[in-house]
Amino acid sequence: MQDQQHRKTAFALKMLTRSPWIMHFNTGACNGCDIEVVAALTPLYDPERFGIKLAPNPRHADIIVVTGALTKKAAERLRRLYEQTPDPKYVVAVGTCAISGNVFRHSYSVIGGVDKAVPVDLYIPGCPPRPDAIIQGIVELLKRARKEAEEIEAEAAED
Ligand code: SF4
Repeated sequence: MQDQQHRKTAFALKMLTRSPWIMHFNTGACNGCDIEVVAALTPLYDPERFGIKLAPNPRHADIIVVTGALTKKAAERLRRLYEQTPDPKYVVAVGTCAISGNVFRHSYSVIGGVDKAVPVDLYIPGCPPRPDAIIQGIVELLKRARKEAEEIEAEAAED
């Protein structure tokens, strides 16, 4: 039974690497990082060559891309989106605000970086990062997911 579960997880991870669907959520960004995320999804940068597409809602998403310092109001919404996203899933913090809160971290309404609310798998620094840096980060994450799937398969084969 556990072996079957492992194989299912490995299969889901492999599927994710072929066509990761991305959901973008702004937890308090100035809009700079959002513009770069949107630009990264345009034909100019052609993210579909890696299968990267925009997900319409959390239930169809594989990767949650978060921009902005984490405000108190947005934290609960982000947690809810995270719970609504099926496993296996990844969270990417895009920009210095999402990583640490940046210059807004001492603001009365800001908690800090997004990892104060949900586990973050990848941090892409910059204020804002360039679209190609965002795509490169996601591609690195996909390599990690592929490796994880292979490790799970190897473990299941040993048992
Ligand atoms: S990292 Fe810079 S560009 Fe991005 S939301 Fe913060 S201030 Fe704006």
